[in-house]
Amino acid sequence: MPKVVSRSAVSSSTDAQPTASSTAALRVYYCICGEFILVIDKSLASLPKRKTDGATIVRTRDDALGKARIFKLNATPKDPLLVEREGGHERQYRFHCPRCTLPVAYQSTPPPAKSGPFLYIIKGALSQIQGQVPPDAFDDDGSRA
Ligand SMILES: [Zn+2]
Repeated sequence: MPKVVSRSAVSSSTDAQPTASSTAALRVYYCICGEFILVIDKSLASLPKRKTDGATIVRTRDDALGKARIFKLNATPKDPLLVEREGGHERQYRFHCPRCTLPVAYQSTPPPAKSGPFLYIIKGALSQIQGQVPPDAFDDDGSRA
């Protein structure tokens, strides 16, 4: 029986490359003032939205319905806000931009971020391009020039 020598084709040029797939998928979002706010493993545009206020729903833990997103929020927690909703009130623990203090996100549980099952990104608060106002930033006010 002939002896088959399998050559292990080790290409040294590709070995040292970092795995691009883990970092290439990350998206970075900025406040409209240009401050870095969020890095996340999926585009906010592709995530589900709340019916009540259009906020983007970011899942913070795995459950039967889906997998948690991997993300980091760079924002300052502030006092909770009581928001009137149909059929009751909702307590929102808000996170604000550390530079211009605009609210950028909220959750239903006290800080830190990810202490509740979801984090909500306020509609129109973040942009993927630094220094650019997102196209939906003024959707809710009628004062479009
Ligand atoms: Zn800001």
